[in-house]
Amino acid sequence: MNDNRPIIAANWKMYKTPQEGHQFAQELAIKALNLTGVRFILFPSATGLFHILEALKDSSVEFGGQNMHSASEGAFTGETSASMLLACGCRWVIIGHSERRHIFHETDADLCAKIPAALDAGLNVILCIGELLEERQAGSTEEVLRQQLQDDLAGMESFPVERLVIAYEPVWAIGTGVVATPEQAGEAHARVRVILQELFPDLPVERVRILYGGSVKSANAAQLIKIPGIDGFLIGGASLDIDQYVKIAEISQIETKVKL
Ligand code: PEP
Repeated sequence: MNDNRPIIAANWKMYKTPQEGHQFAQELAIKALNLTGVRFILFPSATGLFHILEALKDSSVEFGGQNMHSASEGAFTGETSASMLLACGCRWVIIGHSERRHIFHETDADLCAKIPAALDAGLNVILCIGELLEERQAGSTEEVLRQQLQDDLAGMESFPVERLVIAYEPVWAIGTGVVATPEQAGEAHARVRVILQELFPDLPVERVRILYGGSVKSANAAQLIKIPGIDGFLIGGASLDIDQYVKIAEISQIETKVKL
């Protein structure tokens, strides 16, 4: 069945020790019992995955890895495979986060290899896309989004709508405190749907889950989640604080009921 609850995903980046992550996950597991209208997904660093598994063993809160290698195993020092993430209890992986693209120079060809590797292994994927500030200022946002989707999803015969989520994350909004306006985010999400329909003509594109990411906080969550086509959030900084994170989830649950 199609799960259309808003996805409230937490990207902890390189923050939180395994012990800190464990405590957060234990607290969240309790709070999540009253927040069944949203879908929580935590993305801790790889070292914390087993602690999260232990903390969430009886919980509906899901979790995943922040990155993975496309090979199933091999001489790739410092890397993690899909089967290793699965063995730690992960159901999800983030692919193509802007920090991976721009700091670690991952290319669209790298991401294009990772997505089928993750899906074939049994992981669900959040694929991040988004334009740089200079690209937006040059009026090339749509072109950038099209190029990323086209190149990252190249070779895929169909789009597995239940297992592949897109996160639109304008790079200029990530970790900057500058959030996209509801109009900017709404327009980008609508563009992404049009592009996906072009790439996959048979795709029921209204069912694709598209998250917004970039300086989401409890103070701006309501105005964003109200926008049709925004199906949840990928949250960095504000997800490190359990009160902020849960507040964003509460707001999303309430506003989504109004929206539907
Ligand atoms: C992110 O890391 O994906 C992100 C959106 O970060 P922040 O919420 O801190 O902008």
